[in-house]
Amino acid sequence: MLIDTHAHLDMDEFREDIEEVIERALNGGIARIITVGIDIPSSLKALEMANRYDFIYSSIGYHPHNADCLDASGMEELSRLAGEPKVVAWGEIGLDFFRRHSPPEKQIAAFEQQLDMAFQYNLPVIIHDRDAHDETFKILNKNKDRKSKGVIHCFSGDYSLAMAFIDIGYYISIPGTVTYAKAVEVQEVASRIPIDRLLVETDAPFLAPVPKRGKRNEPLFVNHTARRIAQLRGMDFEEFSLKTSENAGRLFGIG
Ligand SMILES: [Zn+2]
Repeated sequence: MLIDTHAHLDMDEFREDIEEVIERALNGGIARIITVGIDIPSSLKALEMANRYDFIYSSIGYHPHNADCLDASGMEELSRLAGEPKVVAWGEIGLDFFRRHSPPEKQIAAFEQQLDMAFQYNLPVIIHDRDAHDETFKILNKNKDRKSKGVIHCFSGDYSLAMAFIDIGYYISIPGTVTYAKAVEVQEVASRIPIDRLLVETDAPFLAPVPKRGKRNEPLFVNHTARRIAQLRGMDFEEFSLKTSENAGRLFGIG
C-alpha cells in the first residue's frame, strides 16, 4: 500500500484514459492519490475528481508559473474551495526562478498570500521550489511558528537543505528522479533523511521513474520510486510503504 502524494490527474495527458489509469493504480496497491491544482480551473477539476472517487483527494492553489494571474477574485474562489471536505492541502504554491513564467516579485507575493490563507484554514501546504531554495526557505522560516506545515514537493536540493526544511517542520517528497542513475544528490537525500519525514510522489504525468522513464507517468509508477528508495535505505519495501503512507496520512489527515 502506497500513497501518491502528488499527481496532476486533471491534465490533458489523462483525458483519454483516466478511468484505466485510476483502475491500474488501485489494482497496483496505490491506496490514495492527491491530485494537485495549479490554478482555478485545475483546482476545480481536481476537487471534482476527488468527489467522484473515495480514495482520491485534492489540493487547491496557484502555481508560481501562474502567479501573475492570481487576483482578488481568484483568492476568494480558492478560499471558498478550501472549506471543501475533500480538499486536504493548499498547493502547489511556491517559487520557480528557473522558468520565470511570472516575475519573481509576483511569485513571492502570491506565495506569501496563499501561505497565509492556507494557515488560516489549517491546511498543510504543498511547496514547489525550483532554483529558488534560499528565498523559499526564508519565507517558510518566517512562518515557522504557525501551526500548519507542509511538504517540499519534488525535492531538488541537497541533504543539508532537506534537513533545514525538516528542522522547521516540513516533509520532503521524493519523485521518480531518484531512480535515475545520475541523480546522486536526490538519492543521498532519500537515503539519509529521517523516515518519518519522507513522502513519495509521481508528479504524473511528468518525471516517470525508470523503467518507464521518457513515457507518460501515472500514479501506479510510484511503486518503482518507492522500491528504489527502500533499496537505497536497506529497508523492506512493505515497511517503507507503511511508514511513508503513515506520514502522508498524518500530514494530510487522510489516514
Ligand atoms: Zn506538480
